[in-house]
Amino acid sequence: MTRRFALMIDPVAASEEREDFSGTFTAVDAAAPALSVGELSTQRGDGVFESIGVIDAHAQEVVPHLERLAHSARLCDLPVPHQEQWRQAVAVAAAECGEGEWVIKLILSRGVEHGPTPTAWVTAAPAADFSAVRVDGIRVVTLDRGYDLHVAERAPWLLLGAKTLSYAVNMAALREAHRRGADDAIFLSSDGFVLEAPTASLVLRVGERFVTPAPNGGILHGTTQLSVYEHLSARGFEVGYAEIPASDLVKADAAWLVSSVRLAAPITAVDGTALPVDAALTAELNQYLLSPRD
Ligand code: PLP
Repeated sequence: MTRRFALMIDPVAASEEREDFSGTFTAVDAAAPALSVGELSTQRGDGVFESIGVIDAHAQEVVPHLERLAHSARLCDLPVPHQEQWRQAVAVAAAECGEGEWVIKLILSRGVEHGPTPTAWVTAAPAADFSAVRVDGIRVVTLDRGYDLHVAERAPWLLLGAKTLSYAVNMAALREAHRRGADDAIFLSSDGFVLEAPTASLVLRVGERFVTPAPNGGILHGTTQLSVYEHLSARGFEVGYAEIPASDLVKADAAWLVSSVRLAAPITAVDGTALPVDAALTAELNQYLLSPRD
């Protein structure tokens, strides 16, 4: 049986001043039911989440994930999670992870309708094995997301920059990619710019320069993309954010989808057009992403 671990968190006021939060979360049987049938907000996807990669019991980039969880909570008018409380809960969950690659999920939902507090929990489980895909790469198709590049400013209630529990659209896009014979998808804005993948950020190499779509509220700011940029900058490469026309995708010298658990997956084809793969740099990026980082 797969080993899993779960903690229910009692969200405390963000202003609470204490050093030890261990009394505010409780380990529960991960195989047993834990949510009330009145937990309508979770059923509606009215909440936010994070997925953190864990390598040999070390949780990666915890602070950037907690900051993004707080950012998502603010966008959704949820009580902002207490960073130190969640950091301690993640540390307890990470200590339960065995060797190899695991994933810790943080979930904060609005809770029982008209209830006093949100519902919050943390789980840990072994990750899928992505070692082959990090080398062999993925074929992607571009899919219209149906919104223009600046919709987030006009319609913040679409919550495009928040990592909400409502991932049904993202999962539908992945199924559509599979139907079209590809492994993954890249969303395009209706005005023809590159956005992100359903569960990953896009990084392009153009000569000695690396570019990723600007996280202007319409897409998530990926923690893995930030780490990749840190590494590339330290190696002396130029990195930047830009509005990238869809037609630039097939002109790239290399491209990757990067995310916390799959890490750097090189893109081998876009809509059936082959893309060059930089095998050496891909291996270097994954080696870096697998090394312990805070
Ligand atoms: N964009 C979307 C829509 C995602 O769901 C994710 C991760 O799940 C990412 C980008 C990449 O984020 P990260 O690198 O923090 O995993």
